[in-house]
Amino acid sequence: MGREEIEKLQKKKLKAAIKRAERIPFLRERLREKRIGEISALSDVSKLPFTIKKDLVNAFPYGALAVPLERVVRIHTSSGSTNKPVTSFYTKKDLETWSELMARGLACAGARRGDIFQNTTSQGFFTGGLGLIQGAEKLGLTVVPLGSANPEKQLEVMADFGVTVFHAIPSFALRMIEMLEASDGLRASLKIRIGILGAEPWTKEMRAKIEGALNIGAFNNYGLAEVGGPGVAIECPFKSGLHVWEDRFLIEVIDPSTGEPLEEEEEGELVITPLDREAMPILRYRTGDLTRIIDGICECGRTHRRIEWMRGRIDDMVKIRGIGVYPSTIEKIIASHPESNGNFQILLSGVDDITVKLEVKNGFISDQAAVNRLRSSIFEEIKDATLLRSNVEICPPGSIPRSEGKAKRVVDLRRL
Ligand code: ZN
Repeated sequence: MGREEIEKLQKKKLKAAIKRAERIPFLRERLREKRIGEISALSDVSKLPFTIKKDLVNAFPYGALAVPLERVVRIHTSSGSTNKPVTSFYTKKDLETWSELMARGLACAGARRGDIFQNTTSQGFFTGGLGLIQGAEKLGLTVVPLGSANPEKQLEVMADFGVTVFHAIPSFALRMIEMLEASDGLRASLKIRIGILGAEPWTKEMRAKIEGALNIGAFNNYGLAEVGGPGVAIECPFKSGLHVWEDRFLIEVIDPSTGEPLEEEEEGELVITPLDREAMPILRYRTGDLTRIIDGICECGRTHRRIEWMRGRIDDMVKIRGIGVYPSTIEKIIASHPESNGNFQILLSGVDDITVKLEVKNGFISDQAAVNRLRSSIFEEIKDATLLRSNVEICPPGSIPRSEGKAKRVVDLRRL
């Protein structure tokens, strides 16, 4: 579809989405207060009320439902990394739409019939589980639904079945790499060529590390349970941003402090309106993710606009001695050193003391001079990027505690 055609479709769908949103009590009230007239241009979306995470947390478990419960065929929840989770509902049609989006995303990353797909994430409430599986089946891939298991088991099953495409959380891919580096000959028995990675903040530097160590193409997959799960945007092989499926999602980038729309291509908070959802048609969901819209047609020929690789989540920013720091800034610095294995943790303690712990590859720790050099160069780079003087600790592989789900990058002990 050309730009004009996409926007015409979005406008038509937006009007219908507003009608559906009126069935959600808190949105009905807000829409009434705002007295929104006719939507005559797509930019009129900015007149609509936002939906924020707190609205959905308050609505737990059934308050954001727009259809009778008997029409809901599936319930998922967000991972609830902070406090209570958010429920996400699906009608039969919502599930079909989601499967189609996931199939599209997998195809966009280069997966084809004949590929064998393994999902390494939990397959329960987490949308990255069943969501990916449905999409892979829709595309006609052969699915190995192992689900959550330790890295050793994952790699063993990959080798057994000749898995070519897998889905994982980036920090889990790092754990697989650790396991591979500790074992002899396992890499040679693997046929993996594509990794679909997402569901936690990561960086391009981390991607380069994962691609190199696993000898795969790794693709950033984006979505969130609140707007239906993964399947909102993904990279194509040109890796110049993530294509957003604009026939099904309307995106905006706003100034996070004022809520006002920003100029084209300016960086701000991503806001998503799902255009086709029946069970949970929320409007203008504030994702908390910092990005910008990339205009123009991609080299791959897709006309869906792209968003820049997310710089981080607004809520992930930590204030240290009055300075706002994104963990992704520190991750970039660490991942750019080939001696590191990618695992790190930022520890805040005492009165604003910051300690950055990072693991290095096997064997490196025994070279004291090299450890000192690495420590001082990371110290300098963090100081240049954030103005902060930090304690840098170089640790042997496996010494930073691993978490089962999303990686815990910041441990803040200051308020305890
Ligand atoms: Zn593209």
